[in-house]
Amino acid sequence: MSRVSRRVGGIAESATMAITEKARQLKAAGRPVISYGAGEPDFPTPGHIVEAAIAAAGDPRNHHYTPNAGLPDLREAIAANAATMSKVEVSPGQVLVTNGGKQAVYLGLAALLDPGDEVLIPAPYWVTYPEATALSGGRPMVVATSEESGFKVTVADLERAVTERTKILIFVSPSNPTGTVYTASEVAAIGKWAGGRGLWILTDEIYQQLVYPEGPAPSIAAVPETEDRVLIVNGVAKTYAMTGWRVGWLIGPPDVFKAANNHQSHLTSNVNNVAQRAAQAALTGPVDSISAMRAAFDQRRRRMVAMLEEMPGVTIAPPAGAFYTFPGLSAHVDRFGSSLEVASYLLDAADVAVVPGEAFGAPGHLRLSYALADGELETGLTRMAEALAAVTATA
Ligand code: PMP
Repeated sequence: MSRVSRRVGGIAESATMAITEKARQLKAAGRPVISYGAGEPDFPTPGHIVEAAIAAAGDPRNHHYTPNAGLPDLREAIAANAATMSKVEVSPGQVLVTNGGKQAVYLGLAALLDPGDEVLIPAPYWVTYPEATALSGGRPMVVATSEESGFKVTVADLERAVTERTKILIFVSPSNPTGTVYTASEVAAIGKWAGGRGLWILTDEIYQQLVYPEGPAPSIAAVPETEDRVLIVNGVAKTYAMTGWRVGWLIGPPDVFKAANNHQSHLTSNVNNVAQRAAQAALTGPVDSISAMRAAFDQRRRRMVAMLEEMPGVTIAPPAGAFYTFPGLSAHVDRFGSSLEVASYLLDAADVAVVPGEAFGAPGHLRLSYALADGELETGLTRMAEALAAVTATA
């Protein structure tokens, strides 16, 4: 009999870990590895946010437990942010401040799922969705999309996958790993469909403002038919370069909020107060550093897409958001056997670390983050182009 429970023992090891670990070892051994694996902005947190945290650390009011759901001022700032960015009217009483968007995904799913309930997860997907679904006893139902459709799921795709056990659709725009951004009319069609089917939507809006040239991405929570059955996940991590601060949130109808709040009260209690104060400063402070970061990402995005388009055997659906590209390598996959092996070859032959599509339920592709310095970005892509040209020439 296994010493570890079936529920937790069943959690898959992250498919990104193997290549990340290999890249780390090579770097430690002195190899000039350039990594496109980053899932976070490479910029430091803006100064005014750090200053607010420093002040908060000196204030004894932040040295003790505070309300489980979050500091009232922050919850108010989040509700105001949701009104501006997602165009939804929510009361601060519906906002649960969590330890990052990741915990919000988990608490949202846990609050809704009973054993056997099915969750529609369009692929390529962020790895946490199926794992968090399974941890709550739900069944992840992966809905494939194609590069030709820009990795967008359609109502027809969803209609084919829905059953009487379907409870939730997980929706994310912009997407990790593809950078796909849905238009307002696409979002409206999917929201209307889900509403008509009586499904819940968990909308992950963590990259909402990282849209090029300008955001925010249209929110499915603003589609009237989704009302009362929508959970919003968001956070400060990506927009404000604050991944290490661990502040996210879940917004939902009062009954779901109450359940998730009870859950969190036994799991972690309130989020670190200093980090909450920093998040409040982020949401209520100047936005010029965000605009500058977005402009830098946009420039890198264009450069990366242009360089990928030139590479032999590489196809690319140009992304419009987040900070990832998700090129297809079917010609090379045929040669190497899998995108995992292509990634391994690029690391060995070109000192370039990328995440294979297998990690996101989409073999045949690679995920490249452009959250790295311009010079490195070009050097690594040049090496990648040469390595792919070398195998193409010898084939
Ligand atoms: N959703 C998506 C799609 C993500 O890519 C991430 C971070 N990788 C998160 C949620 C969670 O972010 P965090 O927990 O750092 O707030």
